[in-house]
Amino acid sequence: MLVRSWRCMYLAGMHVRGRTTCSVTRGAPPARRQPRRRWPGLPWSAFAACLVGAFVVGGCARDEASTTAREPARRAGPVPQATAPVDTSGLADPAVARGLDRTPEQTSERTPETGGPRVALVIDDLGQRLDGPDAALLALPVPLTLAVLPGRPHSRAIAALAGQRRDLFLHLPMEPQGYPDIDPGPGALMLGQTPAEIAGLLEHGLASVPGAVGVNNHMGSAATADTLLMAGLMAALEVRGLRFLDSLTTPRSVAWRVARRAGVPCARNRLFLDVDHTDEVAVNARLAELVAVARRTGQAIGIAHPHPVTAAVLTREIPRYVQEGVRFVTASELMTPAPAAVEAPGAGHGR
Ligand SMILES: [Zn+2]
Repeated sequence: MLVRSWRCMYLAGMHVRGRTTCSVTRGAPPARRQPRRRWPGLPWSAFAACLVGAFVVGGCARDEASTTAREPARRAGPVPQATAPVDTSGLADPAVARGLDRTPEQTSERTPETGGPRVALVIDDLGQRLDGPDAALLALPVPLTLAVLPGRPHSRAIAALAGQRRDLFLHLPMEPQGYPDIDPGPGALMLGQTPAEIAGLLEHGLASVPGAVGVNNHMGSAATADTLLMAGLMAALEVRGLRFLDSLTTPRSVAWRVARRAGVPCARNRLFLDVDHTDEVAVNARLAELVAVARRTGQAIGIAHPHPVTAAVLTREIPRYVQEGVRFVTASELMTPAPAAVEAPGAGHGR
């Protein structure tokens, strides 16, 4: 079990290196937020939480679980520029997915739909660039959900590109376990923020992703486990008619349940496609696993990132799955309860 824990910390380090690379190679680094540590011993807390996660679900939040893994990565100096983008967000591993299978709230997903299994692909961490794998993913010939980081160089351009067939979400940065050593970037939802601060952050984020119909979390392994903070966020989403997708970067997330209680159309990520984002076989296997879940339960949502291998696999495999009867849809179409106007995602929404 310890081995698993250290492995997950290593993966957290991989995630962090991705972010660091991004800030180095894609323009000015984000403004550093003032540390707002709630617990002086936070790195140790993160370590302990990771261990607990390993014992509970056989894995842990690879997204941003540990600072102990991150620090050596940061101190190792510049990361090669060839390394891919912002966040490899790795949680939602099969163990977590199996855990979700067992929750009663998932029952509705177990009703097979007529007309073939429905798979929603969410592309996270967009807004940094318009070329390379980002462009390849945007060109995929199926409905997608685009999750755009606020305030990035191309956030508005990606929002404008979303068009009618794309579901547009604000990829809202949220406090991870291990903050401030792990930095979610500017405009992040942080523990201890008031409802007014949350609403202000949301407005600020939405202003740079015009037309967004929903929100999903970037990082957020601490924030999404905080019931009070999530209640504030969901209240702000509800009054604006927005949806919520829990990226599920920690098995301790309460976001989905709080969203349901608040009447916010919501869903949860089933798995991340590119935890091993340089391994084509691994990405292909995760895609196959996502489709298998959809065939078994009727539908499934998976999150991918703008990595070259991810783009190559999806470009190659999606037409084959379409031929086999898999229906690619937007995440909004798989939300509970179903939003009223998913036919026109990105067409503007009350905020
Ligand atoms: Zn992200």
